[in-house]
Amino acid sequence: MNHTQTMSQRPARRFWGWGALQDHLLAEEASVVAEAIAAHGVDPAGPPPVVQEFTLRPPRVAPPAALGDMFSASAFDRLNHAGGKSYADLVRMWMRQPPEVPDWVCYPPDEAAIVAVLDWASSAGVAVVPYGGGSSVVGGVEPPAQSVAASVSLDLERLDRVIEVDRVSRAALIEGGTYGPDIETQLRPHGLTLRHFPQSFAYSTLGGWIATRAGGHYATLATHIDDFVESTRMVTPAGTVQTRRLPGSGAGPAPDRLILGSEGAFGVITRAWMRVQERPRFRAGRNFRFDTMEAACAALRRLAQSGLHPSNCRLLDAAEVAFARVGDRVSPTLIVAFESANHPVDAWMVLAAEIIADCGGVALLDHGGARAADEWRTVFLRMPYYRDPMVGAGVIVDTFETAVTWDQFPAFYSEVRASVAEAIQRVCKRVAIISCRITHVYPDGPAPYFSYSVRGPEGGLASALAAWRDIKAASNAAVVQFGGTITHHHAVGRDHRSGYDIEVPSLMRSAYLDVKRRFDPAGVMNPGVLIGGL
Ligand SMILES: Cc1cc2nc3c(=O)[nH]c(=O)nc-3n(C[C@H](O)[C@H](O)[C@H](O)COP(=O)(O)OP(=O)(O)OC[C@H]3O[C@@H](n4cnc5c(N)ncnc54)[C@H](O)[C@@H]3O)c2cc1C
Repeated sequence: MNHTQTMSQRPARRFWGWGALQDHLLAEEASVVAEAIAAHGVDPAGPPPVVQEFTLRPPRVAPPAALGDMFSASAFDRLNHAGGKSYADLVRMWMRQPPEVPDWVCYPPDEAAIVAVLDWASSAGVAVVPYGGGSSVVGGVEPPAQSVAASVSLDLERLDRVIEVDRVSRAALIEGGTYGPDIETQLRPHGLTLRHFPQSFAYSTLGGWIATRAGGHYATLATHIDDFVESTRMVTPAGTVQTRRLPGSGAGPAPDRLILGSEGAFGVITRAWMRVQERPRFRAGRNFRFDTMEAACAALRRLAQSGLHPSNCRLLDAAEVAFARVGDRVSPTLIVAFESANHPVDAWMVLAAEIIADCGGVALLDHGGARAADEWRTVFLRMPYYRDPMVGAGVIVDTFETAVTWDQFPAFYSEVRASVAEAIQRVCKRVAIISCRITHVYPDGPAPYFSYSVRGPEGGLASALAAWRDIKAASNAAVVQFGGTITHHHAVGRDHRSGYDIEVPSLMRSAYLDVKRRFDPAGVMNPGVLIGGL
């Protein structure tokens, strides 16, 4: 029997980790990871899980015969759609105990098939979980545990085309299931680019980005996918919503704004008109080290408020620099870059450098400081691969991200790290280093992104998972308590509900619930995510 049998047309994926089955760490990466695992005092992970180690419940319902040929009940497909890529998702696979596995995975070929599936699911009480690349880190694609007759993971990979390019308005109509690299490949012949590059770019889709309000390439101005959305099309159990293509509008609450961030709870985003751009031809970048994080933050704030709008403007604190082995590996480092398709940007870089020097920043001189940016980009893109063997070895590796206004940031930065360190000490009995980088920045505040890794408590992976839950509860509580948002770009899913329910006024949440009931009267769309009962 073929244990990787799949109806997917894409390269077979790891259900227990990041990337494709055939991916592997390079020898030098493997030794860095082995060193990190040894530093945590744990043994290397055993072999990753294989399909034969799981016994799956037979599907509880059968799909209608007319739709049957787009449904897969292969164990490999079902395991690959049982969760996303959060620490909890991965460790539960390494434990060989995913909490829920969808009864079926459905690969609709077009929008008409999606309408038919939603009609059937609504009448049969079957939950439908829209699935893009499955890179959710907040429990966004996990099937619900109860209150449904069965669950179907609706994988949109066959909606993978750039359908039309409007050169005059410089916009493109793109299908919801199109993966990041495929969007760029199809836009390239037109000399265009979407320029939305989240770290998960290779394994995430346009529909997933819109449904989660993903954060991408640009550190200032167009920080979220929201800024590139011109109009959207969403199929709901109650009908299809098509918003109008408009460059801007003041006509009441914006329909696209309700679809952005809807996390599959209202319907399926099948396509969107996106604002695209000329490919950049002019670039300038430099990296700067600082003696203190305070000085680096002062520079970052002045830069954010200068009106220069660098495309890249990322600040790594001392712990992050050491962890990512970037620059001199001890000093807070600011990576700044400008790009344009239209004009040279060196003059902007000179102005930015003056602001930074005024705040005590010192330019890194290796190849114009380019090495620090390259080193960091490489680690950044490979990090998800490093994480898998660490998770299997019993190390808890996680991140959380937020945004907060500048006036609150100094206290926020120290209080959040102290609260989370205290939680880690309490549940793991170990001191953890919590590193921080600022991924996006606004005139009124930064978006900090925290990372930590710590050996789980005695008791194997189950104890590590229980400890992670306590740490996650502490980080959720801390970011909201000290003035931040529960999420700047990772979405709400299930894992951020505790903070979201505080952040959004209760009358507004109940209004959203009414909207959900209008779009999804049977309550089958991704139950438990974002709003409504867990
Ligand atoms: C290693 C790693 C790095 C990451 N880096 C970033 C980053 O840089 N920036 C960032 O913002 N996020 C990042 N994420 C989180 C994740 O990649 C984003 O949330 C991404 O937008 C999810 O896209 P996806 O296609 O994988 O969606 P999925 O994970 O498949 O789904 C996410 C949510 O959207 C819903 N959904 C998916 N497709 C549709 C659709 N067509 N219609 C309606 N609902 C839909 C799902 O039901 C679910 O609720 C990262 C995750 C990982 C694991």
